[in-house]
Amino acid sequence: MKHLEPYLEQLKKAGYKLTHQRLVILDYLLKSRDHPSADMIYEDLRRHYPTISLATVYNTLEVFSRIGLVVDVGAPGERRRFDGITSPHSHHFCQQCGRIEDAEFSGQDPAASPAAAPLPLHATRCRLDYFGLCAQCRAASAASTLTQTSHQS
Ligand code: ZN
Ligand code: MN
Repeated sequence: MKHLEPYLEQLKKAGYKLTHQRLVILDYLLKSRDHPSADMIYEDLRRHYPTISLATVYNTLEVFSRIGLVVDVGAPGERRRFDGITSPHSHHFCQQCGRIEDAEFSGQDPAASPAAAPLPLHATRCRLDYFGLCAQCRAASAASTLTQTSHQS
């Protein structure tokens, strides 16, 4: 797990032990593109690591949040959802299925480029949220529109 080394330094510096379960959760977060909740992480990991508990996942996310290894993406009116990618970037929230994706731009993500989204005085970072339908929900709604039209004719 060589890719974890810079993160492990951060954990050690903050005075936390490098337990196996912390490594497993960190590795999972860095690979995930789903912005998982604690429950989602637990459900996935327990298949391979039956000894892991939901409490461990919660506690570990708490530790990681405290030292900045993970960020809460601020899902609206929902359980907390986490991102192991902590560099500034915007998210797209699907209003139908709840999927959270990194927002895609043809140019620069405005959250990552202060010139595109100037920060107010004293602010250190900005967050931009986008809402709409994800690709899957757009496709499903297009398909159901087609079906309805063909039934009518
Ligand atoms: Zn969706
Ligand atoms: Mn993200």
